[in-house]
Amino acid sequence: MTTFPAFVVRKSSTGDVSVQVEQLSRDDLPAGEVLIEVAYSSLNYKDALASRGHPGVVQSFPHVPGIDCAGRVVESSSPDWQPGQEVLVTGYELGASHWGGYSQFVRVPAEWVVAMPPGLDARGAMIYGTAGFTAAQCVAALQHHGITPDRREVLVTGATGGVGIVALAILAKLGYRVSAVSGKPEFYDLLRKVGAVETLSREALADESDRPLLKARWVGAVDTVGGRPLANIVRSIEHRGCVAACGLVAGDQVPLTVYPFLLRGVTLAGIDSAKCPRDSRLEMWRRLAGEWRVELPEELVTTVDLKGLPERIEAILAGKVAGRTLVVPRAE
Ligand code: NDP
Repeated sequence: MTTFPAFVVRKSSTGDVSVQVEQLSRDDLPAGEVLIEVAYSSLNYKDALASRGHPGVVQSFPHVPGIDCAGRVVESSSPDWQPGQEVLVTGYELGASHWGGYSQFVRVPAEWVVAMPPGLDARGAMIYGTAGFTAAQCVAALQHHGITPDRREVLVTGATGGVGIVALAILAKLGYRVSAVSGKPEFYDLLRKVGAVETLSREALADESDRPLLKARWVGAVDTVGGRPLANIVRSIEHRGCVAACGLVAGDQVPLTVYPFLLRGVTLAGIDSAKCPRDSRLEMWRRLAGEWRVELPEELVTTVDLKGLPERIEAILAGKVAGRTLVVPRAE
């Protein structure tokens, strides 16, 4: 095959950003030791920002988004990878400064590649995708900081979102009692099916007071939204609790005092999945394929091709997507 499809973001001389499916050749791809034929990529919030040309994600144009992918090695100049091997890639610069997975082929540095862990295939790996990988790191951070299932409830925000739903499912599987915050009441039954013991509206985190501490309600939290909700969660965590914070859909400003840290010993654990060190990266994927393996209900998994992406991107930016979206970038 001489050309193959990719979802390309362009910026005009007047600054207008547009997206279209274009035909690329292998020569167009960035440098790297490993050429992978992509079976699946996925849609994460960061991909939607990249598709809009967000300067925090994309620095140069044209650009191909897709911060994760799974497929088979086609060519490799690295002794670590052989043609035919099933692999996955998440994070690093994929879909950011380096062209990403919304393309039938990607070429990446050898050190970004992870062998498909036993128990997972390309589809399963991308149902998790960066979202699931991030959720796993959030759960690991809570464990690391001593949050065990026998203590009181833990909270998950953005619970129908990609990170939120996988975090909820893993925590429930591990025996935690999870309160799930969601702005989508029509999904409350499904959130309970995935493992929530309680569903809360976003208003449950809407306290606008400037009190340094609120009544303690949870021992831990996976927060995917940031902003005022994150401040209110930190103020509501009991003594020696922990919040794993990874997102910003509700804002990047967190109005807090130091008192939750000084008076309750609360830990605010930051999660940065793109630069996760390799040892930890492999361990997270091993757990996701093994003892933390969770299956999402099919209602929470949607598959689109490259032409179907723009509509789905609009929806995720509007906070209207529930669950995970698989992206199939093959030629029709
Ligand atoms: P999704 O869009 O799939 O999920 C976000 C969820 O947040 C939505 O589904 C919605 O859930 C909720 N939400 C949306 N808008 C608002 C709002 N204004 N206020 C409160 N809640 C809102 O995104 P992802 O799961 O892919 O990512 C979640 C966040 O995590 C993003 O900010 C993303 O950038 C970040 N992220 C960070 C990573 C890292 O390494 N730090 C890696 C991966 C993601 P509901 O309707 O159920 O409330």
